[in-house]
Amino acid sequence: MGIANRSQNISQNQDRSAPAHVYGNGNANNRKELGRMVHMKLSLVLTNPDAVAKSPGSDYLRHLVWALLIAIISWGCSTPASNRPASNMTAAREAKKERAELRSNIKKIEPFFKPMGKPQSNDWLETHNEPGQTFEEYLDADPVKPTKERQKIYVLPLGTFSSKQQKIVDQTAEYLDVFYDLPVEKLPARPLVVGPSKNGIQNQRQSKLNRARQVRTGYILDDVLKPILPADAAALIAFTVDDLYPNETLSYVFGQASLENRVGVWSLARMDDNTDDHNFLIRTLKIAAHETGHMFSMRHCKKYECLMSGTNHLQETDRRPIDACPECTAKICWLSEVDQAERYKKLANFSRKNGLPKEADEFTRKANAIARNPEH
Ligand SMILES: [Zn+2]
Ligand SMILES: [Zn+2]
Repeated sequence: MGIANRSQNISQNQDRSAPAHVYGNGNANNRKELGRMVHMKLSLVLTNPDAVAKSPGSDYLRHLVWALLIAIISWGCSTPASNRPASNMTAAREAKKERAELRSNIKKIEPFFKPMGKPQSNDWLETHNEPGQTFEEYLDADPVKPTKERQKIYVLPLGTFSSKQQKIVDQTAEYLDVFYDLPVEKLPARPLVVGPSKNGIQNQRQSKLNRARQVRTGYILDDVLKPILPADAAALIAFTVDDLYPNETLSYVFGQASLENRVGVWSLARMDDNTDDHNFLIRTLKIAAHETGHMFSMRHCKKYECLMSGTNHLQETDRRPIDACPECTAKICWLSEVDQAERYKKLANFSRKNGLPKEADEFTRKANAIARNPEH
């Protein structure tokens, strides 16, 4: 076909360059902090006895310091040993309970989704042999989770947008907010100024199809986005109206993300191909939520027709739902620690407000299914 596809490019990037801890794992970091604090406390005490011993009338103080030192060392050995298992057990119990709830919710919303069928000609799964990823496999993979320090999704419009495109970016930012239950901040639009070629690699070219400007994704990721990545960003997502290409061998991509650097860029240039405004919005919501999922270690899904399933072309994107399947939703609720029924209610409100009544009703039905008492 000579046509590149977005997902192939992105998933290849993800597999190769995404370390397990792009944003760090809260629990692992906390353990490190605790170790450092205990070590510092002991060092302080160990340096003090000498200083005290040299001062006049120091016997009493020296004994006091050694008594304190012994007490602290004993505390270091005994108190945490008796407390730690209890608190760890509480945390472990909580985590287990939370996962058990998410697992039970998987069953409750299963009826809303179609199992993945046999791929049609030129569909993603016809050309890609992928393992898929269940909730359990996701947890086992030590996924990237937003931390307190890095939990904001920034959305940056790059270039000049029509009022219709502008509105779609605003709606997409709002959708990401409710979909991932993370704060989203829209940055002021800035022009996409393309710098000169470096080491013989051009940063832009003309499309052979319609002579429109195409911008190289690597340039946007490395030279435009990386230098302005805010410190508290879980992800910085740029939208552009320019068409994109990743390298000279491919004719275009819809977008690309660098998971290592927490930046991604997606183009609206082809989202309105052969469709109406309504579907232009739906496609953009699907693609933004799908790619952001990759930034949180979610791989392509092949258990259901799912927002996180790979797509080879826009017709395939159109067949996918606007929502993630039960397994992928469990991942989202785990990473954002959001209440699943509340999340569905917010998604229903968003859909109703943005002219998507069918989707709103479906989200409401899912919220009701989750709220129903589990069978005991
Ligand atoms: Zn993908
Ligand atoms: Zn899925």
